[in-house]
Amino acid sequence: MRKLSRRDMLSGAAGIAAALPLLSAAENSPRGIAPPAHKLKVVVAGAHPDDPETGCGGTIARYSDLGHNVTVLYLTRGERGIKGKTYDEAGRIRTGEAEKACEILKARPVFAGQINGKVEVTYARYEEYRKILEAENPDLVFTHWPLDTHEDHRASALLVYDAWLKLGKKFPLFFFEVMTGEQSSHFWPTHYVDISATVDRKRTACYAHASQDPDDFYRIHDEMNRFRGHECGRQQAEAFIRHVQSPDEAVPLSG
Ligand SMILES: [Zn+2]
Repeated sequence: MRKLSRRDMLSGAAGIAAALPLLSAAENSPRGIAPPAHKLKVVVAGAHPDDPETGCGGTIARYSDLGHNVTVLYLTRGERGIKGKTYDEAGRIRTGEAEKACEILKARPVFAGQINGKVEVTYARYEEYRKILEAENPDLVFTHWPLDTHEDHRASALLVYDAWLKLGKKFPLFFFEVMTGEQSSHFWPTHYVDISATVDRKRTACYAHASQDPDDFYRIHDEMNRFRGHECGRQQAEAFIRHVQSPDEAVPLSG
């Protein structure tokens, strides 16, 4: 293995330093008082109800508090996710939970129409998903990190990535982490968002998913929020990987 040179270490440090001023700008901007000069359209794309909330809930609340429009795009309604219920019953229950969570985060839920447990990644599905994302006309998109143990999370990442390529890489693309260590792996963040002010709403939105045993899954995200906060010098944070070929125009949380 090649030894790290001083230059390598400096460029690594610069990467983190470059990300932090984005947070400072947002901290100084008025929250919920004046609408931003340019409202961003932010899309957070997840596989199941509860994924965008756990990976990005604090960040979603930060954007909506700043007056930006956030759409939460669920690939499925989590139809396979409740033991003893039919797909139809579970889908209905989890749709209600997702709508409640989005209300708490002040986001708009959209369902992409695939079925949890039967998710397909085909040319036709790529095309279908591209049309849905294109119709949202996003300035900024967040989705799952593709190295994840859950097949539907990987599918979401691929569908979004393919749409991003076909749409000409015209918006910045960020990846979020879920249940790191158990689900996401090899996740080395490039950007952090300070969620100290919104973490209580993130928690409430995650607990809206009562059918998913939130005590169990949120325990891990509570640790992650604190660890990522510690890592970037804040109390609580969410961490992201920015695709290096993203355009720079829409800067996350610049206010
Ligand atoms: Zn999931």
